[in-house]
Amino acid sequence: MRVAIAGAGLAGLSCAKYLTDAGHTPIVLESRDVLGGLVAAWKDSDGDWYETGLHAFFGAYPNMLQLLKELDIEDRLQWKEHTLIFNQPDQPGTLSRFDVPDIPSPFNVIASILRNKDMLTWEQKIRFAIGLLPAVVRGQKYVEDMDKYSFLEWLKRQGVDERVTSDVFIAACKALTFINPDEVSATILLTALNRFLQERYGSKIAFLDGSPTERLCSPIVDYITERGGEVRLNTPLKEILLNADGTVKAYLIRGLNGSEDEVFTADVYVSAMSVDPMKVMLPKPWKQMEFFKKLEGLEGVPVINLHLWFDRKLTEIDHLLFSRSPLLSVYADMSNTCREYANPNRSMLELVLAPAKDWIAKSDEEIVAATIAELEKLFPDHFGGDNPATLLKSHVVKTPRSVYKATPGRQQYRPAQVTPIANFYLAGSYTMQRYLGSMEGAVLSGKLTAQAISEALPVANSSNLQTLTRPPATNAATA
Ligand SMILES: Cc1cc2nc3c(=O)[nH]c(=O)nc-3n(C[C@H](O)[C@H](O)[C@H](O)COP(=O)(O)OP(=O)(O)OC[C@H]3O[C@@H](n4cnc5c(N)ncnc54)[C@H](O)[C@@H]3O)c2cc1C
Repeated sequence: MRVAIAGAGLAGLSCAKYLTDAGHTPIVLESRDVLGGLVAAWKDSDGDWYETGLHAFFGAYPNMLQLLKELDIEDRLQWKEHTLIFNQPDQPGTLSRFDVPDIPSPFNVIASILRNKDMLTWEQKIRFAIGLLPAVVRGQKYVEDMDKYSFLEWLKRQGVDERVTSDVFIAACKALTFINPDEVSATILLTALNRFLQERYGSKIAFLDGSPTERLCSPIVDYITERGGEVRLNTPLKEILLNADGTVKAYLIRGLNGSEDEVFTADVYVSAMSVDPMKVMLPKPWKQMEFFKKLEGLEGVPVINLHLWFDRKLTEIDHLLFSRSPLLSVYADMSNTCREYANPNRSMLELVLAPAKDWIAKSDEEIVAATIAELEKLFPDHFGGDNPATLLKSHVVKTPRSVYKATPGRQQYRPAQVTPIANFYLAGSYTMQRYLGSMEGAVLSGKLTAQAISEALPVANSSNLQTLTRPPATNAATA
């Protein structure tokens, strides 16, 4: 079967990969001239990479890890020490670590919390552990039910001290969702905590050894094209054309540079666009349908990714850092963490600025200046004295609508991959799967979509169906 997929982010590429395994012929149609969507990256005129987002991979990403294995590129992940590292805002330049010992879960994570003396008192640790018990004992059902509360409300209901929020969870919320604990759904943090508590290496972090476009997306494209599929860049979906019965007749592709629009037909159609363009693209008759109306409850959240190149080494730390700054979320010195960006003499800091709603309209100069002011607290030795570090160059990548904004009550709006339209499916990290708006969520959603298509339209003599081992898409929330 020919399957037209709009969007070459990780969801679209994963969907195409698993469709080729099932014997189908996917054709991925991407509007931009670059692969990867939210993991897209570009090379500047000096040959330096800059990215849409600083991306950390976790041990608790089974579908991403399996995909890398199937592509024979799992050695491209550079695993870091099993620890979470936080800046200490009251003591500029100092760090606090949650070192996770190599013992079975959940004792490894519990030990890391008990051994950390800087960030939480004994009373706070005990209260938080008691507060977390229902999530551990009652599992995912309880976690989903907590979507009615913000994480801050949930902490208060559990009697957990506000300092726990300001100390640990502001950093975690900003890192996972680009918003603060008073805005983020409790389900998000509890889902992540559950994974970290249940899997021995769940909270272990890895970085890719180069740009996601070249080192992650390109091998997926090679895999697809070697097996008869296609991936076309600069091919924007302009309109979804319908048959009289409301099913998809064709994708209308916008002609670029004066060329004609193209009517593209296939047996099955997938949208792997993010939720905001999908809402705009909805054909009029579908807008009345309950399934598609729910998309109105979802919207992408703004975020900004900065890259700052300095004249010297600011740190030797080879890891992700949680800044605990009101302006910034996580950051890393990519000259240490990423093989292709390595430089023994000069740092390249990649930093995520979140929440970004008040910054997204500001100029790059203003954003860089505010970030440098924050660096004076993170690296006082290099920015405070007579000989401050010099910024050599910078790149700012703004994404006004990134992953869906995970405020309370959003879970009910996240659609299944299977839609009421017989020949139309959805993929994307915003669709319902348990890994939220993440790379893992995107890969899993694409896999679930491919599985649903293969179940609806099995191909005789398919050799690789065994790779699709997930439950049906309609059960995706529990996959
Ligand atoms: C700053 C930042 C940091 C992040 N950090 C992490 C992290 O550390 N760990 C993690 O797991 N995740 C992280 N994420 C989230 C992760 O990148 C996303 O969840 C994931 O990449 C989403 O993939 P997707 O395929 O669902 O959507 P997208 O990547 O949004 O892909 C959608 C694709 O559709 C295309 N498209 C849109 N309109 C059209 C059209 N009309 N026609 C054709 N194509 C179209 C887009 O160009 C895009 O390529 C981060 C994201 C950002 C922005």
